[in-house]
Amino acid sequence: MQSKFLSITVLRCPNCGNDLDGLSTDIVFFCNECGRCQVYGDELVPVEIEFTRFDDSGTILLPFWKVDATVEIFRRISRGESRTTPIAGQRKFQEGKPDHVESSKESRRELIIFPAFSTSLVLSTGVMLHEEEFLQEFLQFGKYPPIIGGSVGLEDVSKIAEGVAVGIEVQRSDYLAFIDLNIEVHSLKVLAIGCTPKKHAFRINGTDIKIPFTAVEDANDILNRGGYNV
Ligand SMILES: [Zn+2]
Repeated sequence: MQSKFLSITVLRCPNCGNDLDGLSTDIVFFCNECGRCQVYGDELVPVEIEFTRFDDSGTILLPFWKVDATVEIFRRISRGESRTTPIAGQRKFQEGKPDHVESSKESRRELIIFPAFSTSLVLSTGVMLHEEEFLQEFLQFGKYPPIIGGSVGLEDVSKIAEGVAVGIEVQRSDYLAFIDLNIEVHSLKVLAIGCTPKKHAFRINGTDIKIPFTAVEDANDILNRGGYNV
């Protein structure tokens, strides 16, 4: 008999049939049985996964999106010099010297990485990750450490990647006044990066980048799933 009101969906790995467990907000799932990664939109679709920095003891593998994209900059205006104080800025303005520089159109290929789990720092974390090099490491079959699911789905990926690309432009050594850019996504995959919970933050192994627990919506659940008692 079918119930009118109740439908229970058990998510199973389309590859091996293993149950996929996760937090209630998860839409990125990792199968601990066969090692495949699946993203839920209208249905589960497989997505490639890479592993990196899982060597520390106490590591929790957190999911990030790794987006290979062309960043096309249509218009970029920067200020030529730093304005160290508001007064100096005011004086400069009154002198009326033109100090804005407009760069010509530019297009370049970038790898944009940002958290696939819900955090209030998703864009700034992406900018911090920009200079890091994450080389793929290979796991032996059947030896998957706990990997946390993600809640940032495919439909949000290109928008967030665009936000990170803008953040990267802001961070450059000149002083950005205006930017108009667009990104074209060529491919994307999940990057499981080893992170270690330390002093109220997830520290990304091998870096100084920390994501405070207070900025991560599901921090307690993530810690519990990673074997930490909160
Ligand atoms: Zn599986």
